[in-house]
Amino acid sequence: MEKLEVHILGCGSALPTMRHNPSSQVVNVRNKLFMIDCGEGTQLQLRRSRLPFTRINHVFISHLHGDHCFGLIGMISTFGMLHRNGPLFIHCQERLPELLRSHLDFFCDDIGYEVVFLPFNPCDREVVYDDRSVTVSTIPLCHRIPTCGFLFREKPTRSMQEQGLSDAVRSYAYCSDTCYLPRLSECVKDVSLLYHEATFSESELLRAKQTFHSTARQAAQVAKDACAKRLVLGHFSSRYENEKQILREAQELFPAAELAHENMRIEIV
Ligand SMILES: [Zn+2]
Ligand SMILES: [Zn+2]
Repeated sequence: MEKLEVHILGCGSALPTMRHNPSSQVVNVRNKLFMIDCGEGTQLQLRRSRLPFTRINHVFISHLHGDHCFGLIGMISTFGMLHRNGPLFIHCQERLPELLRSHLDFFCDDIGYEVVFLPFNPCDREVVYDDRSVTVSTIPLCHRIPTCGFLFREKPTRSMQEQGLSDAVRSYAYCSDTCYLPRLSECVKDVSLLYHEATFSESELLRAKQTFHSTARQAAQVAKDACAKRLVLGHFSSRYENEKQILREAQELFPAAELAHENMRIEIV
């Protein structure tokens, strides 16, 4: 089976803790590496992961909260010091280039490669990347500011086509940050692996509503309604010393739920 893996670099929420890094992960599709979100400290996590990060050519940013994009400028600068020469494509909302511009001009004026911003509208479902191995499309979410998730869907290989296995393609959906969104299950129907935020446990339901985040139970409900094969929970609030309760609540509804953790590698089968 061709490689399809997710590497968790960070699965904490906005407030930094000793236990979790802010959001970032790398999806390996047939040895092409795609980054989703880039919270502060992501480049150190990349080092720890031992991923060949010179092979990251595309970064997808879900929304413009700092815990999802503060790591960009440091990583861009470091790539320059490491003599990267191929362009780095950043798929993001329209405002990000203007927000980063002065930092790029001042700190990264001598990097030997191009940073190319490819804007998308997070309110639409659109294909933002496509090659012969994979299609990446946006999934509009509901958060305090415009936010989208990303759906990676592999394309059948020639041998799969020859064996009549074209329908057996695998998929991965990243959904963070969002309040509970019942319609999301339609967008991620039958997904092989769903990463859904579970910032809070059920006792913080009101807080989840107020901050446009989800509880573990709500994440499990989406996975269940979508008939997802597997659910990984992340974006944990800093208030929890561990996430045992979060896992328990999710597994009551969806037994194939598990907790994300830093340096976790998930093989999608
Ligand atoms: Zn966040
Ligand atoms: Zn957010």
